[in-house]
Amino acid sequence: MPTHLLSAAQTALHDQLLAQRTELLARMAHERGGVIGRAEVAADQYETAASDNAQLRSERETQFAMNEHETAELADIERALEHIAQGHGGTCIDCAVTIPQARLLATPTALRCIGCQSAHEAQHPHF
Ligand SMILES: [Zn+2]
Repeated sequence: MPTHLLSAAQTALHDQLLAQRTELLARMAHERGGVIGRAEVAADQYETAASDNAQLRSERETQFAMNEHETAELADIERALEHIAQGHGGTCIDCAVTIPQARLLATPTALRCIGCQSAHEAQHPHF
């Protein structure tokens, strides 16, 4: 834990992010430890590329895409936790305005106010 004092709102946000991370890690561990791991998915996709089992192939592609999404989500959570640890939780990383509580409740990983997020997405369409 950071040594400085956190406001109640930051503490709540921090706890929410930790809970979200725990749940995400459990889900990822379940998926990877279960049917197929990430590397195996890639290998299987290669091996079955010529196969006519389109159904199985599309299921594995979906699984692979989900893993990609979860990896990105985990990175977002880590970034938000880092932001809080630095004492800036709940404020926009671009303009330092306080992010509305409603936005943080809906998106605990939000690092920007709506305005800066829109501007950022316009500049980086894939993020
Ligand atoms: Zn902003």
